[in-house]
Amino acid sequence: MALHEELCATCRTLDIASLFITELEHEEAIALGPLETILNKSKDCGCCKVIVDSLLAQQPWQKVDVNMILAFLRAEGNGTDVWLYSYPFIEEDNTSPTLRVAVSTSHGKQTSRLPWREHVGDLQLMRTSAKQLELAVLGHGKEMQQTADVGIARNWLDDCLRDHGSLCSQPGSGPDSDSSFGRPSLLRVIDVSSRCLVNLPNGTQYVALSYCWPRKPGLTNTRASNIDFREKGSISMSKGLSETINDACNFVRGMSERYLWVDALCIVQDDGADKAHQISQMDLVYGSALLTIVVAPDSTEAEGVGLPGYRIRTKLRHQIIHKTHGVELSIPKPCLDDVVSYTRWETRGWTFQEAHLSRRLLFLTSQQLYYQCACGVRCEDTTGEGLTPTAFIKHSTNLWNPKSAYENDSDDNWGDMFLSRSAHTDASRLLGTHDLLLTDFCRRELSFPSDILNAIQGILKVFSDSMRTEFYAGLPLKWLDHALLWQLYGAGERRTGFPSFSWAGWESIVDPPVWLGTRDTRRLITWYRCVAGQLLSCETDAPMVEEHASFIVPPDNTIQNIKAQNAPSHDMMLVTTTQTASFSLSTMSIDYVHHSTGKDGEHMWILDANSHRAGIILLDRGWKSIHVTEKAKYEFIMLSMAGISRVGDLLNFDEAYYEDREWCLLNVMLVAWKSDGVAERVAVGYIHCDAWREAGPATMVVHLV
Ligand SMILES: [Zn+2]
Ligand SMILES: [Zn+2]
Repeated sequence: MALHEELCATCRTLDIASLFITELEHEEAIALGPLETILNKSKDCGCCKVIVDSLLAQQPWQKVDVNMILAFLRAEGNGTDVWLYSYPFIEEDNTSPTLRVAVSTSHGKQTSRLPWREHVGDLQLMRTSAKQLELAVLGHGKEMQQTADVGIARNWLDDCLRDHGSLCSQPGSGPDSDSSFGRPSLLRVIDVSSRCLVNLPNGTQYVALSYCWPRKPGLTNTRASNIDFREKGSISMSKGLSETINDACNFVRGMSERYLWVDALCIVQDDGADKAHQISQMDLVYGSALLTIVVAPDSTEAEGVGLPGYRIRTKLRHQIIHKTHGVELSIPKPCLDDVVSYTRWETRGWTFQEAHLSRRLLFLTSQQLYYQCACGVRCEDTTGEGLTPTAFIKHSTNLWNPKSAYENDSDDNWGDMFLSRSAHTDASRLLGTHDLLLTDFCRRELSFPSDILNAIQGILKVFSDSMRTEFYAGLPLKWLDHALLWQLYGAGERRTGFPSFSWAGWESIVDPPVWLGTRDTRRLITWYRCVAGQLLSCETDAPMVEEHASFIVPPDNTIQNIKAQNAPSHDMMLVTTTQTASFSLSTMSIDYVHHSTGKDGEHMWILDANSHRAGIILLDRGWKSIHVTEKAKYEFIMLSMAGISRVGDLLNFDEAYYEDREWCLLNVMLVAWKSDGVAERVAVGYIHCDAWREAGPATMVVHLV
């Protein structure tokens, strides 16, 4: 190893190797001076160069100039001084932790806002140097190959199959799974050896593909081609076969697997019956696949050039390795979540359930390969092989597993995202998972808006199992009191073909009832749903509580007799007997901007007849600007009791007039009546139950569409 490298005076005093042997805590970080100086010295000093490179390797900075980073640092008021410390990257029982070096621009403060993690850059020791220092290689840097390493992907899969047991082998199963599952029926797959379509032979494994359809659709299977594609070699010889699918066939063959499922070719795209059948079993198609290959190139990469990193060595795939102070250091690649957040794949509707329903995912990204299962993440640039599933991994690093079945990070309870078919044991956790997934899904884009429920049908099927309920228009019937409380952000654009009471009926961003803060609801009314002209009761586990007796509305005796021919004709309709009452609305001074989307809505006070604040509602600005005037009255229907009295610090009513007590709020829906007598949802909010009573509500049958 070269010992004659040029180092500046500051760097000469450093003992980089020792930082990987003994933890140097944040509070004792070594000051390296201002970033400007380090930047100037980096032309001559090898160590200063590593520092600058580690900063530039952070995902948000990869496309910007270092001077912009400096400007940003100054604007943030963080100062531009740089410190070094080390932190435990992996901690396992009975072994000493694997350390990484952090390049930080904040000292003494535990959190820097730059970029949005605790530190700005990361350095890892290469495993060759770890061996020289007599450290275990686990968690240290690994030299990457020029192109995506098919062999290593096979090894990860074999390790998972051998070591991870039922956590990774049962589709959609949780740690407490008691479920058995079926295999998809009538499944065509590509035989990657013969390059033709075959029916999946009994007892064989297959790999599934998750990718974005190119903007210009390539070769797909049709009724006309379905027979021809059965002929050996026919798929390779067909015109228009995308490079992505062609590469995927080669990749799967390289992994010594034989069958590949790709939607474009394995579903007969112009056969309505086949399409409906295959869509209805997406949970099984992805859940039963041995592995799902995710094609997730960086959004700046050209389309149609095949699998990222497979043939072309992208710029991002380049691994930065430096020799300094007698050791080899590399800049670790970003964490999987960060890499994926810069891809088009992450923005598409259909890919959402493909990832969530799969047991094992192999991400082909522009940075490197990442393998993810319930028990861990593996990647090419860091030694993760042999890592135990319960090990603690530093959040947002390249071996951290956002989908871990183990809650090994107390800050972010990511275990909640783990889909399970097992019957729920913890309703609020289950609803939490449901809400989180739904919010994420509603942000996605669909080429065809009418796909909104199809694209999530597989996930809803898994929820059907765990929630022990049917879904209607995307809402879990047993949890309807909760599920009707979703909120809308931005302008309320209706999606045609879906009812207004469902999130699916809107093209805007939908949020679960987080804003309403009410996982706790109590039932007051009985819902019926319209199915093929018949009204069926919506079964629910939620009991009606004696203490709310004055608000409970028993179903109208005649409601079951209302046939669709009597009621207005709407495909999807909810019917109930409930109370309605009118209130006016008034603008309040607090605006609300959605935390992650930046879309805004407008909170409005709901006023009683004496202009006391009686409740609160979030309206979209578009509707408000057209419909709301100070003098007008708006009609609300009663939905359920709400288990809170305030949103954060904001009390929902005039405390001087209405008493703040437990279960004092009603969840209500502002509705608009259509000419045929049915009601459409406008928004959902709260009203104090005393105000409701004073308003003299009427009881009536409401048809909600
Ligand atoms: Zn230096
Ligand atoms: Zn596994």
